Amino acid sequence: MVVSLRILDDGAWVSVDDERRVSVSELWPVVGACDCAVSDFLVEGFTGVAVDGRTVGVEAYGTCVRCGEATTVGPLAVGRVIRGSFYPLSTRTVRVAPSADSYRQEYLPSGSRGED
Ligand SMILES: [Zn+2]
Repeated sequence: MVVSLRILDDGAWVSVDDERRVSVSELWPVVGACDCAVSDFLVEGFTGVAVDGRTVGVEAYGTCVRCGEATTVGPLAVGRVIRGSFYPLSTRTVRVAPSADSYRQEYLPSGSRGED
């Protein structure tokens, strides 16, 4: 199953199959982006996107609005590809940076998955 993944508009959007699906200016809970247990990571740009199995991950830069640390993290999950269709994660879904070795790389429980 092949999907077309691209970064558009100087890193402002992640395009999946030529549709803009994930945008900057979202606030994501991220584990491992900074010293906060869970940062409130304000996404300012995307520098990379790739699919690993069914999980679409991005490399993103931004700022933790809790502690002010500006950093680049990734890959962070933004959604999954199931039968050729992209299902974005809720912005409230906790994303785990790969350096956060105290957590397993998986989706943490969330009350609202899959919304736009
Ligand atoms: Zn922080």
